[in-house]
Amino acid sequence: MDSDKLMVKPGSRARLAGRDPDDAFGYTKDKAEQALLKHQSKLAELQELLYAEKKYALLIVLQALDAGGKDGTIRHVMSGVNPQSCSVTSFKAPTAEELGHDFLWRIHKAVPIKGTIGIFNRSHYEDVLVVRVHKLVPKSVWSERYRYINDFEDTLAASGVKILKFFLNIGKDEQKKRFKERLADPCKRWKATPADFEERKLWDDYIAAFEDALSNCSSKSAPWYVIPANKKWFRNLAVSQIIVEALQSLDMKFPKLDFDPKKIVIK
Ligand code: AMP
Ligand code: MG
Repeated sequence: MDSDKLMVKPGSRARLAGRDPDDAFGYTKDKAEQALLKHQSKLAELQELLYAEKKYALLIVLQALDAGGKDGTIRHVMSGVNPQSCSVTSFKAPTAEELGHDFLWRIHKAVPIKGTIGIFNRSHYEDVLVVRVHKLVPKSVWSERYRYINDFEDTLAASGVKILKFFLNIGKDEQKKRFKERLADPCKRWKATPADFEERKLWDDYIAAFEDALSNCSSKSAPWYVIPANKKWFRNLAVSQIIVEALQSLDMKFPKLDFDPKKIVIK
């Protein structure tokens, strides 16, 4: 798969309406699952190198509409990763303390340290998504945030944080199907909240907000990818491939030793 096709080219519009959530780029489920296995083992190797070299951190940002598959993506794509050098942060509605600071305060604290992988399940983008859709702050405030976000991400990139941002793109029918499955399954029901069904009514507003966020904030150092996510197996394949490619492009090396292993005598 040519992952460039999924990227929002810096400076261009995301054109969400023209991107098919059902696309699988010619992959079958079988082929995609085989490729995912390969990516998972490659990712485990690259993570070891990332940790050993400690020159870079990897930050993965996941955004989607409800039932878009953020949790499933983390579970499948990261299943081979060593939990010791990986963190997942889920951003919920801000606490009173968080609201008392600038919107990036809680985000900055959660950025992964060099050598590790950090995953954001929701992120600072909520401050131009849910906040915009629900008018939690005036337009004059949220519309300035794209600029602050770009500057923030540039600052992180300049200090060695490789940033990858994924919008898991599901269709409105697919969301309905997943909501119904959730409600029908006693093991999944807990995930549903009445608020989700209210949010669904604002679908078009959310898409418009995503369209602007992805268009205004896809940069070379922190690109957005629109992942066709109706087919979970394609979503997993695409996300895992993009992560592996990004880590490979860092050209990481194991650190040079400051001693000669041949001269060590173990008694
Ligand atoms: P969930 O991910 O399903 O646990 O839901 C988390 C909720 O927190 C979602 O409804 C988000 O829209 C909400 N949320 C996350 N970040 C913010 C934010 N900055 N402002 C307001 N709501 C937020
Ligand atoms: Mg939810």
